[in-house]
Order: sequence, then C-alpha cells, then structure tokens
Amino acid sequence: EVKTINHNRLNTKLTELLKILDCDKVYKDADNCVIKDSEGNEYIDFLGAYGAMNLGSNNPHVVDALDKVRNKLNLAFIGLNPYEAGLAENLVKLTDNQLQHVFFCNSGSESVESSLKMARAATGKSRIIYCRNSYHGKSFGALTVTGQAHYRQKFEPLIPDMIEVPYGNIEELEKELAEGAAAFIVEPIQGEGGIITPPQNYFKEVRELCTKHEVLLILDEVQTGFGRTGTFFAYEQENIVPDILCLAKSLGGGIMPMGACISKEWVYQKAYGELSTCMLHSTTFGGNTYACAAGIATIETIVKEDLVKECKEKGKFLMEGLNNLKERYYGIKEVRGRGLMVGVEFENNIDDTLKEANGIKELPFNSYGAYIASGLINEYGIVTAYSTNNMSLIRLEPPLTITYDQIEKFLSALGNLLLENSE
Ligand code: PMP
Repeated sequence: EVKTINHNRLNTKLTELLKILDCDKVYKDADNCVIKDSEGNEYIDFLGAYGAMNLGSNNPHVVDALDKVRNKLNLAFIGLNPYEAGLAENLVKLTDNQLQHVFFCNSGSESVESSLKMARAATGKSRIIYCRNSYHGKSFGALTVTGQAHYRQKFEPLIPDMIEVPYGNIEELEKELAEGAAAFIVEPIQGEGGIITPPQNYFKEVRELCTKHEVLLILDEVQTGFGRTGTFFAYEQENIVPDILCLAKSLGGGIMPMGACISKEWVYQKAYGELSTCMLHSTTFGGNTYACAAGIATIETIVKEDLVKECKEKGKFLMEGLNNLKERYYGIKEVRGRGLMVGVEFENNIDDTLKEANGIKELPFNSYGAYIASGLINEYGIVTAYSTNNMSLIRLEPPLTITYDQIEKFLSALGNLLLENSE
C-alpha cells in the first residue's frame, strides 16, 4: 500500500524541475489544444491561458471573422461601429435581457475597474466589499479588491474603503453589508485563488442580502464566463442575476484582447446617464471593430458547436477520471470545480529538509502541486498550472474543444506521476 511521497525521487529531480519553472521555453505555434515550442516539441494545452482559450488557440472561425474585417471594411474610428452594436446586442441577449447596458474595454482588470467606478458613481457610496483569496486583476482598483497579500504588499497603500470578507461566509458578509456599501464584488468560483467553489446556496443568500441592503452585486466572470463551468455564465447555475457583470478573456476568442462591463440599465443611467457625465469613464480602443468581430464569432462558435454542453459532458468525464485516480493512488487530497474549471489539490508539501538538502533557500515553488505541474509539462508534454495562492494545487482549464482522447492522455500521465512519486 502506498502511503507517502517518495522524497528521494523528488530530491534527485528538483534541480531539473527548477529549470523548467524558469520559463526557458519559447512557445511558437498553437493550434486548438496543441502548442509547439521552438524545438518542435508538442504540448497538450490543459490550461487554456486561464480561461482565455475556451475555443482553443487560433480558432478558424475567429480568424475568418478577423480576415473579413481586414478585407472588406474601412471603418471610421469614431462612434459606434456595427460590430460593436451587434456584439452588445448578443451579450444582452445572453443575459436574457436582464442586463441591458454594455461597456467595452480591453482586459479583465479594466472591466473590473469599470465596475468599481460605476458602482461608486451610481450609489454615491464608497465602501466596496470583496473576498479573501479573490483575484480581480493588477491595476490599482482591481488589485485593491484582490484578497491575496503577495500581490498587494509592494503597492500599499491601496484604495481606501475596500473591505475584505471570507469567501463563502454569509454572516461576515451581512455584517459589512448592513453598514452600507456601494458594491460587493465576487467570483462565482475563485479561479486564481485555487479553484475554490462556494458553499451551496451561498449566491442565493448573497443576492438576497445585497438587494435587502441596497448594495450592488458585481459578479466577476472574467474566468468563469463563455461556457467554462458548464453554463454560458456561471451565475445561471445559482439562479441569480448580478447588477454588474465583468467579462474578458474568452470574449475576444483567444486572439483579441477584450473586456466588457455589462450592467442593468438603471445602474449605468444613475452612474453616467446624464450627457455631461457620459465621458467620465471611457477607453480609446474599447469596442474596436476587430475585437468585436472576434467577440461575435466567439459567441456564434460556442452556440453552433454546442460547446457549453460539450464542456459539461467533458467536465464530468474529467472529474470521474480524477476521482478514480484519487481512489487508486496516494497523493490526491481533493478534486473540485465545475465543468472544465477543475482544481486538484495534493497531499504533501515538499518539506524544508528537502529544500536544505538541495541548497535552495528561496524555492519558487514549495509543494507537490507545483511539482506535479512541472512533471506534467516536462515528462508528458501537458500544460497545467499551480496557483500562486496555493501551490499544493494544479489548475485545469483546457479549451472546451479538448478531445476525450486528450483528457485520457492527461489522466494517464497524472496517474503515472502519482505512482512514480509514491512509495
Ligand atoms: N478577474 C478574474 C476572475 C480573473 O481570473 C482575471 C485574470 N486571471 C482578471 C479579473 C484580470 O484579467 P486581465 O488579466 O485580463 O486583466
């Protein structure tokens, strides 16, 4: 029976692994779920740029749409362009017309910035509540609502009046909501924080309490959107609607940088509706023709290829495979997530004696999750990631176009690593 991690094996491989984590590879080509490095080695993409590659790399429909813009249009760069209007309409429809105003920008951080400013402007209040272990981006506003000390420390003092509460804890949240706030910003599943799923009914209660205390609910679906968790938006599974929705990553089809901040019309009107204030928030390239053409093609492809359903089924297959490994081998502590947004947490941290034996004081990773991620890419050509917030974990977010065969390859590689590394 296997009970522990084989530290001798880790010991001999540590230096080698450190080199790999140094990012000494140049990735050259990518096609759907396969990435090639400059030496011609191929990798299966099990990370999907943390949710930006829901359609895989260089999706042909998105590339075609961009080619069409390039060949046929010579649009003036002023005012609303037809692609912008079309994409806005599609996005509103995807919310079942429950959110009616779309503001386009260029990234996830920027979409979060927009939502925070909109919430303050619409309510005239300044307090904004956010969650521990959250990730909303690295610009000042987004960073201030990111509850991970290692990202924040060097940039203090951050923006005042932003208050942290534990994710998933209703009592603490209600205490803060009762004191009044402009908004509560939260991820449906915490991605960068380590694929942390909320307790059952959490979001139902969050929605009720925000309404009761007249606090805007901002959902950050930058990572969970566009089918990633098995519904088009993750909030659909909670039977709630936010007041403001932040999107980015896969919105640009994995090719164009793009973000959007979508809100209830009254929120926008209260914040910026008057003619004299409508330019208080804007960005030059937000809603540009190319980005919006990519956005339209992305949504069309997800719908036509039924990728949301595919995601749900493939996610189930992956999850079953992982739970099976958990039962058969030592090393997996927990498998969690939804759809194709999955975290695998491992048992053993690499201990300090091992670091000392290798003469390494500042290890860039300190646990078995980081080690497994390195083993997967180095020995099996499979790209995953650990979380900087929790290195005993690997994050799996493959494109929704991943094949069952590729999922099986991943499962077998992980099984082998677990077997090799235990004794
Ligand atoms: N919000 C969430 C939930 C994210 O996962 C990320 C990126 N990982 C961001 C915001 C920031 O997006 P960007 O990197 O495009 O600024």
